[in-house]
Order: sequence, then structure tokens, then C-alpha cells
Amino acid sequence: MSIILIKYGELTTKGDNRRMFINTLYKNIMEKIRRYNAVITKEHSRMYIEFDKEYENEIINVLKNTFGIHAFNIVYKTETNSDSICNKVLEKLKEENFKTFKVVSKRRDKSFNTPSMEFNKVVASHILKNISDIKVDVHNPDIYVNIEINKTDTYIYFNELKGLGGYPVGALGKGLLMLSGGIDSPVAGFLSLKRGMKIDAIYFEALPHTSLNAREKVINLAKELLKYSSEFNLYIVPITKLQEEIYKNIDSTYMITILRRMMYRISEKVAKKYKALVLVNGESIGQVASQTLTSMNAINETIDMPVIRPVACFDKLEIISIAKNINTYDISILPYEDCCTIFVPKHPVINPKIDKCREYESKIDYESLINDAISNIKVVKITEENEFSGLL
Ligand code: ATP
Ligand code: MG
Repeated sequence: MSIILIKYGELTTKGDNRRMFINTLYKNIMEKIRRYNAVITKEHSRMYIEFDKEYENEIINVLKNTFGIHAFNIVYKTETNSDSICNKVLEKLKEENFKTFKVVSKRRDKSFNTPSMEFNKVVASHILKNISDIKVDVHNPDIYVNIEINKTDTYIYFNELKGLGGYPVGALGKGLLMLSGGIDSPVAGFLSLKRGMKIDAIYFEALPHTSLNAREKVINLAKELLKYSSEFNLYIVPITKLQEEIYKNIDSTYMITILRRMMYRISEKVAKKYKALVLVNGESIGQVASQTLTSMNAINETIDMPVIRPVACFDKLEIISIAKNINTYDISILPYEDCCTIFVPKHPVINPKIDKCREYESKIDYESLINDAISNIKVVKITEENEFSGLL
């Protein structure tokens, strides 16, 4: 049997909500590792997972992608007495590659009567006696030998593996992510999951002006986000008619603004239907004409729901760097047009007037076009098993 010790992230500061946060983290981890017959024990300040050693890599990969974990370690268990601790430390340390080390022991149970500082020295000299060409470095060691002494069992672990931090996904309710095939929105999705939101995603398409390749790209981006989340829904909204009406009837400078007002309206309705509390999108201040502060006002005023914009204040290069880290970048740059790029006007308005938006919108029967789009939504479950082949 192998054991992993998990240290919580920021949730430790959450007072009364703490139990709920821990339970959510437990549920999220369990869902991903149940198939490995792992057993999880939760405590106030940590969790232990016991599992068969053959699944170690799989379980480590899950934990690396789970929000709400500050750090985790593979731990070795031994009896609480000086000899067995020293022997276990030596046995495991021999499997490691290092030149310098530091012993850090903690007595979680004070009935072990050697004080920690003194015990550090006992263990260190045992190591030095038995492994050659190494030395102690208390400031910057290659390896930390952590020893956690409990009443009956002692846990030994070396350098910790970093978790993603953040809050457990789902601990703070659900948002609806406006997911396009671009670089920004998957990053916005990742960052909102990090804050403990569960997300569903919504994608607007205008077949045949947009292609099924573009849809496939969005599904693949959604699948990348699944690594950090449990299964979720992707709502594919057909907006061909709406977009064609805008194209035919509305001054080209206002087309994008109006299209985005429609996307917001539809997203809000879908969010309410599926119990999402906020919208999330990849808008970044100043990036394009529809993302000036005036544009944001003109677009946002159509709805009555908070919009979270996790990358609003990031530079494009900062967004790209996150996209590369989470493996969405290479998918995002595939060259399939989305529904905004095919009708792009030469001179989109930078400072749209709300009155003008309303005036233009009165030329089309947008309420019924919106209802029509919503009643033709395809709901795709993003799960690990799904093949999506019928959709592409
Ligand atoms: P890029 O990364 O190239 O900027 P983008 O997807 O961010 O692409 P923008 O035109 O900047 O494209 O759109 C701003 C935001 O609006 C997107 O991040 C996304 O949240 C939302 N959005 C745009 N187009 C769509 C779409 N077809 N379906 C769903 N959401 C969309
Ligand atoms: Mg963008």
C-alpha cells in the first residue's frame, strides 16, 4: 500500500465553511480516483489517501490538477519508536538522489519523549553514518526529511509536490463560461475553476458560416478543462439566423456590438435555466473594439447578472503563458473561424452608444430569434468517456 498526505490550500482560512470545503475536495478527489480502489481519510488539516502502489502515477496526476490542494507528499509509515523511524528514513532515502539534506521532525503527540530538535540530530547522524558523500544543509538542502510523529504511527516524507492551490471546484456554486475557440476564454475557465466555481460552457456557432472543425475545437478545449473539473455541460447555440439578420439590417460599425449583446442575453437565459449564478468570459480590457470600457457598458447593460472576467487585466502574453501551461494554447491557435470573425466589419465602433444599439435592435425581431436559438440548443456532456463522434 502507498500513502499520500494532502495539505489543503486557502480553504484552511475559511472558518465555518471549512467542513464544506473539505467535503467538496474529498468528493472531487474521490470521483477521479474511485476506479483505483483508493481509500481517503479526511482530517481537520489534511487528508490521507491509501492506494495500491501500481496506481501512484495516475493518482499523482489527478492531485496535480485538483484545486484546493496546497501540496502533497508520498509518505512512508512506520511505528513510532526511534529505531524503526531511523531505519525507515534510511531505507527510503537510499532511493533518492541528493547531496545535502535537512531533517525536520514534528511531534504531533508529545508522549514521544525526545524533543524534536534533539531527535533531528539523532536521525541526521544515523543518515550521515550510513550514506557517504552527503552533508547537512539547514538553509537550502536538496532534500527535506520530514518526520511527523504521531502516537502510534510516524509518517516520513521528503520534498513536497506542489498543488494548484485555489478552492475545490464546486465549493462556490456554478458559473456559465462563454467558451469560444480563442485563447482567452479557456484561460478564463481555468481561472474561474480555481476560485471554486463549477462551470458549464456555452458556445455560439453559425453553421455553415462556421465549420464543424470550429465546434470540435471548442469540444476539445472543454475536454482540457475537464482535467480540473467533474463532468459538465457544453451548450451549443445555433445563431445563424440571428447573425444573418444582424448582417442584413444593422450598420456594419455596430454589428459586433449588437451580436455580443445578443450573446449576453442568450447566455443569461441559459445560465438561469441551468442554475448558474454568474457568466464568465475571456474579455480583456482594450484587446479589441468590443472590449473598451464603453463597449463593455453597452454590452453588459442587456443583462442583470454578474459577469466575471478573469483575464480582464492581463496582457495577452500573460494569458498565452497560462494557456500554454494548461495545454489549451495549441488547440486555440488552430485556424478555424468562429462566428465573430466571419462578419467582422472593417471599422467596428469603439465607443458604442446604448441608444443607438437599441435603435438598431428595433429593426430586427430579436426576441423571437433568441428564443428560436435557445430552443435549438444542443447539450453536450463533457465527460472522460464521451467520444462526441456523432456531433462532428
Ligand atoms: P481571442 O483569444 O482570439 O481573443 P476570444 O475567444 O477571446 O479569442 P473575443 O472576440 O476576444 O474572442 O471574445 C471575447 C469573449 O467573448 C471570449 O473570450 C468568449 O468568452 C466570448 N465569446 C466570443 N465568441 C464566442 C462564441 N462564439 N461562443 C461563446 N463565447 C464567445
Ligand atoms: Mg479575446
